[in-house]
Amino acid sequence: MVSAIEVMEMALRGLDRSDALYLMREADIFTLAQAAEAATRKFFGDVVTFVNNVVINYSNVCVARCPICAFYRPPGHREAYLRKPEEVASMVELFASKYGVTELHINGGFNPFLTPEYFDELFRAVKRRTPHVVIKGPTMAEAAYYAGLWRMSVKEVLSRWKDAGLDAISGGGAEIFAEEVRKVIAPNKISGEQWLEVAKIAHELGIPSNATMLYGHVEREEHVVDHIFRVKELQEKTGGLLLFIPVKFNPLNTELYAKGLVKTPAPSTYDVKVTAIARLILLDRLKVAAYWLSVGKKLASTLLLAGANDLVGTMYNEAVLTSAGAKHDTAVGELAALAREVGKTPALRDTFHRVIKPL
Ligand code: SF4
Repeated sequence: MVSAIEVMEMALRGLDRSDALYLMREADIFTLAQAAEAATRKFFGDVVTFVNNVVINYSNVCVARCPICAFYRPPGHREAYLRKPEEVASMVELFASKYGVTELHINGGFNPFLTPEYFDELFRAVKRRTPHVVIKGPTMAEAAYYAGLWRMSVKEVLSRWKDAGLDAISGGGAEIFAEEVRKVIAPNKISGEQWLEVAKIAHELGIPSNATMLYGHVEREEHVVDHIFRVKELQEKTGGLLLFIPVKFNPLNTELYAKGLVKTPAPSTYDVKVTAIARLILLDRLKVAAYWLSVGKKLASTLLLAGANDLVGTMYNEAVLTSAGAKHDTAVGELAALAREVGKTPALRDTFHRVIKPL
């Protein structure tokens, strides 16, 4: 059995896909976690960061109908909604004044009724009321969908959004890049290759982004490894990624559950492996998140000892994961405590990972 020191040495020499797959399959979680924690401390020290942010969905109308999604409603559904730009802007203003949020994380579905002018007004309205709040906006998948809908190029859509006030792009829609998985979990979304291409265009326009990975459904270890390597390669190419966020799939209220393809969330041991292998592949190239909203706060705290060094954000008002049963709303002090519990030093950051203040 390979030791933590051997794993660390392998990682520092640079893992290839087969090394990483071997480690995921054969190494025990304690060994992987220990090596990943050593790598995290070596490259990032013991600081754990997160942003104080609010999540607002501009609309839950979506025509993609992903089998992983509990959030969307089809057009015409009685629970379908679309928020007016001024409504979003006043919500942001409220969260900024009440909780001091510095970031708006805004996403929606593929809403076929929206125009380019809607988004112009949305971003402008937020910037008018709260110019200091960073807008981290629609995913690569949304950008590609609206480009198709409006018969524009992705570059035109992203440039227009940037001119209207978009500062960064959230990392969603990446799911798992491998097509054999994607056609089961998100058959109507852009391909993994297209996601990476949209990200490259955004980064070249000076719009940085996160990258997520949805795991714990029908994927196998090789798909996870492949996904993380593609994230690493993108970062080496553009340098435009801010954070890698593994997101644990919760099957509650989803079509994958209804079809019997996924009955329960993946075991916690798998969360540890995914987080650790991400750190061992990415090393110093990118921070890795422990996304408390998808794994729960206690496990998120533990993952800070297995390669993660960012807690994403306070995520006030989040609705996508909460549609699948996640518990939401947490405050700055509570997230800081999760880091301290495992001997780490919490710090509040901005969207671009500049530390605002140690906590
Ligand atoms: S995951 Fe996104 S694209 Fe897919 S159905 Fe849900 S809102 Fe639509």
